[in-house]
Amino acid sequence: MWENNVRHVTPYVPGEQPGDDAVNRVIKLNTNEMPYPPSPKVMDALRAFDYTKLRLYPSTDAAPLREAIAAREGVDSDEVFIGVGSDDVLSMAFLTFFNSARPVIFPDITYSFYDVWADVYRIPYETKALDDDLHIVKSDYLCENGGIVIANPNAPTGISADADIDIIEEIVAANRSVVVIVDEAYVDFGGETVLPLISRYDNLLVVRTFSKSRAFAGVRIGYAMGDRKLIRYLNDVKYSINSYTMSRLAIELGVASLSDEEYFRRTVSMVVSTREWCAAELRKRGFAVTDSKTNFLFASPVSFMSAGSLYEALRARNIYVRWWDRPRIRDWLRISVGTDEEMRAFLEAVDDISGRAI
Ligand SMILES: *Cc1c(COP(=O)(O)O)cnc(C)c1O
Repeated sequence: MWENNVRHVTPYVPGEQPGDDAVNRVIKLNTNEMPYPPSPKVMDALRAFDYTKLRLYPSTDAAPLREAIAAREGVDSDEVFIGVGSDDVLSMAFLTFFNSARPVIFPDITYSFYDVWADVYRIPYETKALDDDLHIVKSDYLCENGGIVIANPNAPTGISADADIDIIEEIVAANRSVVVIVDEAYVDFGGETVLPLISRYDNLLVVRTFSKSRAFAGVRIGYAMGDRKLIRYLNDVKYSINSYTMSRLAIELGVASLSDEEYFRRTVSMVVSTREWCAAELRKRGFAVTDSKTNFLFASPVSFMSAGSLYEALRARNIYVRWWDRPRIRDWLRISVGTDEEMRAFLEAVDDISGRAI
């Protein structure tokens, strides 16, 4: 009868990862990975890495990486928390800050890991519907609550609250008795950051990742920035679970990535121009496409076919995109931005499937 005492949870389902042998056959546009490799400086750091140091535990607070992030972002190193990808950072933040009987609130359409963490940690939560244009409705976040999570730019819609970044500040200002987390996983692709607000609001935690814009999904580095008191509480919880989360290798490679700002900017801007070109191509073909400020497109083919059947037909051609059979978004596909060549192959497949030549 031990199963009565199991912590039953329904886990998050990430986009499918084909095995290493299949990876060359598949055009993989389903998990928002960068289509370009990390900076060559990362390769240099890998080559120079002293493997004999692997016998030693790493720095518990990933100090060299924390300092490099602080220098780049213009904050103090004790305003930075580091984790094993931003999923780890977000999970720690849920566990640390959402400890009230009142519900944590986040939008109905957003990163589908938030409700999973709430469930696993037994945190009550409530979702608030985005409006018909998929924007957050400020008044929904001015109620009594146990905390707030907002992804900006949002996933999977790609929409950034640029025009109304003030709305986020108003939400943070109106909720000084709880922590507001702003998940900026995609901000480097054209969104506006709320980072400057952390010096004015000690209840604001900004979460970022190296996985997308720095092509580091396989390394696992995420970080949060906020008031030093917030960071201290996060560290207290982290040190109560696992002191040595960041490997020596991840710390060194992360520092190397940050040392090449020029490469970072160049590869991000390549993705942005491919995104804009591909969005225009999709609109020409009758797709509805949101104004994405991320490295993916959120596009609906329903003017000529269902999203579910396009998803299946692409899959049959070894082109993987993301589709959720869920209310409000089942007419949409989330398509990661690959190289120009990958996106051309994707568009050709769409034309082939829809029986149209353009
Ligand atoms: C990808 C993603 C993350 C997590 O990425 P990590 O690889 O764990 O750093 C977090 N939030 C959003 C909105 C994402 O899309």
